[in-house]
Amino acid sequence: MVFHVLTLFPEMIREGMNYSIMKRAMEAGALHLNPVNIRDYTIDKHNKVDDYPYGGGAGMLMQAQPVYDAYKAVEATCSKRPRVIFLTPQGKTFNQSMAREFAAEEELVFLCGHYEGIDERVLEEIVTDEVSIGDYVLTGGELPAMVMMDTIARLIPGVLNNEDSAQDESFAGNLLEYPQYTRPEVWMDKLVPAVLLSGHHANIEKWRLEKSIERTRNKRPDLYQKYEEETARDRSKKLK
Ligand code: SAM
Repeated sequence: MVFHVLTLFPEMIREGMNYSIMKRAMEAGALHLNPVNIRDYTIDKHNKVDDYPYGGGAGMLMQAQPVYDAYKAVEATCSKRPRVIFLTPQGKTFNQSMAREFAAEEELVFLCGHYEGIDERVLEEIVTDEVSIGDYVLTGGELPAMVMMDTIARLIPGVLNNEDSAQDESFAGNLLEYPQYTRPEVWMDKLVPAVLLSGHHANIEKWRLEKSIERTRNKRPDLYQKYEEETARDRSKKLK
C-alpha cells in the first residue's frame, strides 16, 4: 500500500510515521510512504504557496496551482486515478468502517490543508473524499492524515504481527474490546478474573464476548444499538 501525502510539512509526516508498527511496516515493505512537499511545485519566484482570500476575511489560503501540480506529479506515478482524501473539518467523520474501505485501495493520496484552507477550485478538480477526524479545528491536515494512515495501515495484511489482533479490537463487529490484564495476578489487592487463568478457551471467549457487550452497552449505547441491529439481521438471515 502506498500513502502519498501532499503537505507543506513533509518532515512532520516522515517523522511522525517513523515509529513502532508503522516503521516496521515500512521496513518490511508492506507500506510505502511518499510525503510530497507542495512548496516544491510553486511557480512563484519567492516560493509562495498562499495568498489573501478574495472578498476579504481572516488569514491566508493555499493557492490552487502548487496543489494541483503536486497532485498531477503523484498521479503520473499511479496505475489508475487514486482516491484523493482532503482532510477537512467539513468532511465525513472518520471511523473504522471507512478505514476498512480505504484499506482495500492500493494507493491513497492525502491532501493536507493549512492556514485557512485551500482554494476551492483545485478541491473541485482533484478531491474524491472529504474526511474530518472530529468536530474541532486543527492547524493543519498533517495530524489528521497521520491518524487516518495509522488506522488504515493496521488493517493491511502483514502490518500487525498477529493477524487476529485487528479482528478483536474495538469497533470490529460494532463492539468495544473486552478488559485485559497482564502480570502480576494480584495488584493492589485486585485479582485477575479467574476465568482468564483457567486455560479453558471456550469459557474465556464467552467471558470476553459478554464483557465486550456489557462495555459497549454502558460506554457507547449508540454502537450497542448497531450491534443489536446487526445481530438481529444475522439471526433472521440464518432462519431463512
Ligand atoms: N477554515 C477552515 C474551516 O473552517 O473549515 C479550517 C482551516 S484549518 C485552520 C487548516 C487545515 O487543517 C484544514 O484545511 C484541514 O486540512 C486541517 N484540519 C483542521 N481541522 C481538521 C479536522 N477536524 N479534520 C481534518 N482536517 C482538519
